Amino acid sequence: MERRKYVKPGYKTKIVVTVGPACREVGMLQAMVEAGMDAARLNAAHADRETIRAEAEAVREASRRAGKEVALILDLQGPKLRVGDLKRGMAILREGELFYLSVHPVPGDERMISVNYPGITQALKPGDSVLLDDGAIELRVEGVEAEGVRCRVTRGGVLRPRKGINLPGVKLPLPCLTEKDLADLETGLEVGVDWLALSFVRSAEDVEHLRSLLREKGSDLPVLAKIEKAEAVENLEAVVRSADAVMVARGDLGVEMPLEEIPILQKRIVRVAARHGKPSVTATQMLQSMMEHPSPTRAEVTDVANAVFDGTDAVMLSGETAVGKHPLRAVETMRCIAREAEAELPYSAWLEERREWIGKGTVEAVCMAACELALQVDAGVIVAPTESGFTARQMSRFRPRQPILAPTPSLQVARRLSLYWGVHPRLVEVRGSAEETFAAARDLAREEGYLRGGEAVVITAGLKYGSREGIPTTNTISCVTEEG
Ligand code: PEP
Repeated sequence: MERRKYVKPGYKTKIVVTVGPACREVGMLQAMVEAGMDAARLNAAHADRETIRAEAEAVREASRRAGKEVALILDLQGPKLRVGDLKRGMAILREGELFYLSVHPVPGDERMISVNYPGITQALKPGDSVLLDDGAIELRVEGVEAEGVRCRVTRGGVLRPRKGINLPGVKLPLPCLTEKDLADLETGLEVGVDWLALSFVRSAEDVEHLRSLLREKGSDLPVLAKIEKAEAVENLEAVVRSADAVMVARGDLGVEMPLEEIPILQKRIVRVAARHGKPSVTATQMLQSMMEHPSPTRAEVTDVANAVFDGTDAVMLSGETAVGKHPLRAVETMRCIAREAEAELPYSAWLEERREWIGKGTVEAVCMAACELALQVDAGVIVAPTESGFTARQMSRFRPRQPILAPTPSLQVARRLSLYWGVHPRLVEVRGSAEETFAAARDLAREEGYLRGGEAVVITAGLKYGSREGIPTTNTISCVTEEG
């Protein structure tokens, strides 16, 4: 595949990069930001406090050097069941043999292993399926005892220490935040992350619980709910309503649910999120073969493009960037695939369809009208000055063909907005009269090279009536064509 460096930030689909040993140096991160990375995911499942802190600092420095805001997402591990350590560092489980899951911290071997959740003896019953290592190994429960669970290996394989356990169809009475999550949350607040991702969400109450904890700490951090359990799928509408964004976490979802349902679920989750005006991130194994190889498979290229066609806000790289051999190339490849797909998106049809999705709010209606206007005059760019981020978020919902420049005086808003489809936040003072806002917006569009071909710029602003104080809400649109 031809490698193309991103030059002008006119792209739409955002790229989330998982930070890890393969890309945590500032120089590499800067190159990734310049190649089109928009958000960094710090994966607390593989990081202690010091690592989270160091990675956050490296991302901020890289973003400063690249001159582009990046959203910092702290992904809390959640209540993941795991096997314990193994005597010889690995064990070969053979089909048909007995295998014991012990609630005691015993070193494991070919016959038994410890599990980090004693409640497993209450949760499981004979006939239940137990999946190890993302479903690579399967056990069937034969009997439950006070000290553990007796299983038969129905699909064998090589087991390594600390691999995940999934119990499809089994509802566990676990808190959605573990002690590690609470400690990581404190670290996240100290380093100033922009988003919190919550793993293994089951219901809207899980999201509300995290939100109320944040409120107690005086934080309004947005929450991204990872959809990776059957219960979250069952409660999808409510989870989407309660969260600020969602992730199609295809890794665990593909273990908890039949694999063949993933493509349909992906489309459904992205669509429900879009209908509620919440961004969606499509994640896991998007360019998996690039862990080893410098170019992706045809199927992976098609997978990324199809996620863009589904209308996802962002696509995510996981192991490809965290521990893969070609982290920068993976970002460049993803940007290249997404840009190509974006040229084919059904912008007019999407805009028409989304008319049905909005309420009677002024800002939504003004944004929708601005997108229609931009489409009609084939504008070069839409400029949506935004104090709180609300106007830019609404504009993003309508998926305009034009990039959305979002000047904002708030660094926090700029960073949070980096996750939204089509939005390119700029840290700029937006105060002043509507005329001043229009003039500054046009200057910005011109400086950024969007109006070179004499295109029009569509700008939204808040006109102030009478003597009311403060910044008025977005209530007006200007459309200007560059002269000369
Ligand atoms: C996933 O399961 O797809 C996912 C993104 O979550 P994690 O990497 O935390 O398992």
